[in-house]
Amino acid sequence: MALAVTADAVRTLHRMHRQLEDLRSRLAAGPRAIDARSRNADTITARLGVLQEEIRKARLVADQKQLQLRSMETRIKDCEAKRNAAKTNREYQLLGEQMAADDEAKKVLEDEILEALERVDGLKATQPPIEAELAAAKVSLEDMKVKVQAERGGLDTEVARIAADLERAEQELPTESRESYRRMVRSKGADAMAQLDGESCGGCCQQLPPNAVAELSQGRVVPCRSCGRMVYASRSD
Ligand SMILES: [Zn+2]
Repeated sequence: MALAVTADAVRTLHRMHRQLEDLRSRLAAGPRAIDARSRNADTITARLGVLQEEIRKARLVADQKQLQLRSMETRIKDCEAKRNAAKTNREYQLLGEQMAADDEAKKVLEDEILEALERVDGLKATQPPIEAELAAAKVSLEDMKVKVQAERGGLDTEVARIAADLERAEQELPTESRESYRRMVRSKGADAMAQLDGESCGGCCQQLPPNAVAELSQGRVVPCRSCGRMVYASRSD
């Protein structure tokens, strides 16, 4: 029933596997944090681009209306000149009516220009907060890059040290249990082992049979029948 390996050995191996998993997840978390911040900066850049395009279009509308206004002013002046040169009362009157109509249209256009310019100003006012947000996002991205870079060396060194310790500890396993241990670790990592929790497997929480608990209390290692983990008891001291 018990495996040909001591609880002390499995306890040590389990600790090293957990340390390695923790270090590797910290190593993987760095690039993920950089990616998240980089995506955030990209999103803000895209928002800024959309806004700048809106400002450009709003300006275009204002410019076009101003051109229309200028040509209308020219037309009114022409009309006035023609009226001054009118030869008949009828012609004078018609040109006067035309000028009055154009004047009305000009007022409408002037209001529209004012609205278009207000829209440009309104849009422009929303730009600085987004620019500030983008600047902050870029700083935060650079900070994270520096932090991840600074931590990586230490984590790599620690991984290498523990991996070497683990390798040595695995060499000391009895040959008959080494292969099954390696197979389980390959598929489950640190979850190939579990500490006894009361009378249950600390991995899957299933109650272990009394004879297994008895063997565990004598410092032996027993496979959990439910999850297959190598179960060991905590040190009794
Ligand atoms: Zn289990």
